[in-house]
Amino acid sequence: MSDCCSAPGLLPFEQALSNMLDQVSPVTETLCLPITDALNYVLSENITSPLNVPPHDNSAMDGYAFSLASLNSNKTLSLIGRSMAGAPFQGECKLGECIRIMTGAKMPNCCDSVEMQENVAVDGDDITFLKEKALGSHVRKAGEDIQQGQKVLTQGHKLTPVDIGVLASLGIASVQVYRKLTVALIATGDELKMPGQALLSGDIYESNSFVLAAMLEKLHVEVIDFGIIEDDFEAIKSAFISADKQADAVISSGGVSVGDADYTKTVLDDLGEIGFWKIAMKPGKPFAFGKLKNSLFFGLPGNPVSALVTAHQLVIPALLKLQSAEIKQAVMLKVKTSVDLRKSKGRMDFQRGILDRNQSGELEVCSTGSQGSGVLTSIVTANCYIVLPAEQGHVSIGEYVNVQLFDKYLQ
Ligand code: AMP
Ligand code: MG
Repeated sequence: MSDCCSAPGLLPFEQALSNMLDQVSPVTETLCLPITDALNYVLSENITSPLNVPPHDNSAMDGYAFSLASLNSNKTLSLIGRSMAGAPFQGECKLGECIRIMTGAKMPNCCDSVEMQENVAVDGDDITFLKEKALGSHVRKAGEDIQQGQKVLTQGHKLTPVDIGVLASLGIASVQVYRKLTVALIATGDELKMPGQALLSGDIYESNSFVLAAMLEKLHVEVIDFGIIEDDFEAIKSAFISADKQADAVISSGGVSVGDADYTKTVLDDLGEIGFWKIAMKPGKPFAFGKLKNSLFFGLPGNPVSALVTAHQLVIPALLKLQSAEIKQAVMLKVKTSVDLRKSKGRMDFQRGILDRNQSGELEVCSTGSQGSGVLTSIVTANCYIVLPAEQGHVSIGEYVNVQLFDKYLQ
């Protein structure tokens, strides 16, 4: 296990992420679920369409179906039958004849076009076509949406509400998916109290596990919350051992620096192959990652903003890989900053920003203000990160910066 504390300098963010991903082996166990239970699970199979969608040529309008050749000699055709959705016309429609047809109804075999009812004059069974028509007008062709045998969803795709609808529309009642992960959360710190408890002098409320549990819910994993563990070697050790037995991944926050009460490192030296990294990112320099006996371990810094940003930028991609899910690239934009941005060289900054249109309608970004690593409210009004590379210094108003839009985990 590489230990970057022993290396001079800091570990670049991209390298930390790729080192970490290299060490994650995706789960392989699968199960078969009815589609009604499969939302947010990761597909372990490719889905190909067993049929054409729509399965037959059908009308896109309420109107009249006919063969275009019929209109060459006479604009008035005889009405000889009806085709309704679910009750198609069974007979044969010859030249000079037409069929009343409703939206979604199957096209009669002998018809190739549809005219909407607003464009005909009806006199008993004589239907006069008032406008020129093109061949195939208002006809939805079989397989226009999805062709039989076409790949519709790919292994590694996380099922969304619309995917469940697509599966239903293909007549697929159940799918093979990867099993759900279990993730344990541990907050360390003698100063931490649960919301609802009284604060004594020097105490603060625990918030990291609440943020992390909510983010993990969006990732669709089972969370086991170990609550607050005091800064004590034996207490932390037994929590880590118990979490490792029950979970695929263990996430702790606090205690990864080198303060007198930072026991995480000494406990982990005892328990697993954990690397203590100093990542060239802000917020979130100290970060621990590695393997316990059964699970992956992520040690986040205690400061609430640092814990959230490292969880979002590093832990979520790692857990996606562990889920066997596709890791999607974040949406990045290049826009002007409407304020000066303070930045010292050396670490990649994930400043919290607000992306909006200015009075001329152009997108621009401004900072949410104080960027302290304890100021959780710096994220409340933000809708993006302003991502400033490590070598970048101060940025002046009007310069272009890279912006990473917040995704579902932060919204
Ligand atoms: P540590 O990394 O343990 O030195 O903690 C750094 C800072 O984050 C300290 O001010 C802690 O009080 C604070 N902190 C640590 N854990 C949490 C938590 N779970 N919720 C809120 N603040 C925390
Ligand atoms: Mg602490």
